[in-house]
Amino acid sequence: QTLGDFFRDMARRQPDREALVSAHQGLRYTYSQLHAESRKLASALLGLGLSKGDRIGIWSHNNAEWVLMQFATAQVGLVLVNINPAYRTAEVEYAINKVGCKAIVTMPSFKTSDYLGMLRELAPELATSSPGSLQVGRLPTLRTVVWIDEAGKGEEQPGMLRFSALLARGDAADARIDAIAAELRNTDPINIQFTSGTTGFPKGATLTHRNILNNGFFIGECMRLTPEDRLCIPVPLYHCFGMVLGNLACVTHGAAIIYPNDGFDALKVLETVQAEKCTGLHGVPTMFIAELDHPRFAEFDMSTLRTGIMAGSPCPIEVMKRVVKDMNLSEITIAYGMTETSPVSCQSDNETPLEKRVSTVGKVQPHLDVKIVHPETGAVLPVGQSGELCTRGYSVMLGYWGDEAKTQEAIDADGFMHTGDLATMDEEGYVNIVGRIKDMVIRGGENIYPREVEEFLYRHPKVQDVQVVGVPDQRFGEELCAWVIAKPGEALGEDEIREFCKGQIAHYKVPKYIRFVTSFPMTVTGKIQKFRIRDQMKDELG
Ligand code: ATP
Ligand code: MG
Repeated sequence: QTLGDFFRDMARRQPDREALVSAHQGLRYTYSQLHAESRKLASALLGLGLSKGDRIGIWSHNNAEWVLMQFATAQVGLVLVNINPAYRTAEVEYAINKVGCKAIVTMPSFKTSDYLGMLRELAPELATSSPGSLQVGRLPTLRTVVWIDEAGKGEEQPGMLRFSALLARGDAADARIDAIAAELRNTDPINIQFTSGTTGFPKGATLTHRNILNNGFFIGECMRLTPEDRLCIPVPLYHCFGMVLGNLACVTHGAAIIYPNDGFDALKVLETVQAEKCTGLHGVPTMFIAELDHPRFAEFDMSTLRTGIMAGSPCPIEVMKRVVKDMNLSEITIAYGMTETSPVSCQSDNETPLEKRVSTVGKVQPHLDVKIVHPETGAVLPVGQSGELCTRGYSVMLGYWGDEAKTQEAIDADGFMHTGDLATMDEEGYVNIVGRIKDMVIRGGENIYPREVEEFLYRHPKVQDVQVVGVPDQRFGEELCAWVIAKPGEALGEDEIREFCKGQIAHYKVPKYIRFVTSFPMTVTGKIQKFRIRDQMKDELG
């Protein structure tokens, strides 16, 4: 089955159930409406001259148009390319050209980001060409730019098509859709997703229907989703967290997709959970922290919540405990995965005891193999020892788009994806993520996992958030450095932190450098870019 088949069957089974609420746009769709609209859009996209295998970019925050694009492209074999709304001119140029997008759908602007302006900068020809006939120097494959309008509002944009006008051209009964769908295989590409760029330049992972549809299904199983569920999704769709753990977990179980916001907004999340009686809530740790610490948190009713997923980066135990207690998320789990594996490889379920659920990433998902190997020798390590986690099975990507060398580096001859993450597995099969190989600090021959030091410092009552990295050092090779965000209104000094560490953790794990900051360098997914912290410290320390 392809995603399109699955979606069509769900829409037949429960046509009148709510499928999508885009709260910030005030839009609601039932399953049958969403299905019909996505067919209309699929027909319109074919009308642009796009055909199976063509790449089409979506460069936008979460909205209904994004979902329509996801299901429209899936039905006619177009490959959707998720482009990060934080990208700027050079990055979007790179993304479009890297995968050869023929069309792009984008928001006109958002806050200070002028998306159409950036495209015009790359393609001044837009002003004088008609949509569909664009021939652009810096974007040689691009033919069409579509901008997301509010149902016909907003001034015309020369050379560009309105989303509403495009949609109006489509015909939900277009027989071409069914003809193409009948030929599609679930091993065909559906998506190119760029990795977060946490460790460097984002890489475009090519994923198939089989990859992400199965992954979404098993995630939904772990969450015990049913058509009664309403999942609040503040995490971005351009990333697999929103698209697979959110949209696909819902659609494979007939649940409702709820978007509280376009860019993340903690208050809107709280308002939406209450107004829409959400039963589930996703987030990266920094989002949950922002929601819990919001000054108006106590005003909102969280009693409808039951389940959700925290993922994307190390999830502090304290934060997990707070969301269970204060947000009523009694069944929340931590998931672990990466874009290249569709993404989830490990996740706990409802059976997992609470202590394990908040402190591990659960067990390996059904139908996947995992091995933990010595990062240098590749030898499989015994239970309890930390090494590189490798995943094999239905979820592993086809490869990095247009980069055979990188693909071969990442996926070994036996089909195992080398994740670059260090993990341990216990006797019962629970997996613990220890950190990234790239983040591990070696100080005077001692291996230090920054994660462990972060977990410890996080327990300081005045610490809101903390990041630990290694910085070069002449004597020890590397030294530890902590960046600390103090809780609002708290004065916190270096001595206090050092005093807190004394006698509690080994001397070599006490950070030599401690800096107080108000924010960390982050990707828009909310992932902290340690390489930027390291770079900044390198500059500072010379
Ligand atoms: P890039 O590959 O571009 O540097 P990235 O690895 O952050 O960025 P993603 O594919 O979005 O891009 O994220 C996957 C990574 O996120 C994993 O390899 C892992 O390091 C981290 N991660 C995901 N879930 C968890 C988790 N539950 N606990 C700890 N780390 C996690
Ligand atoms: Mg990665």
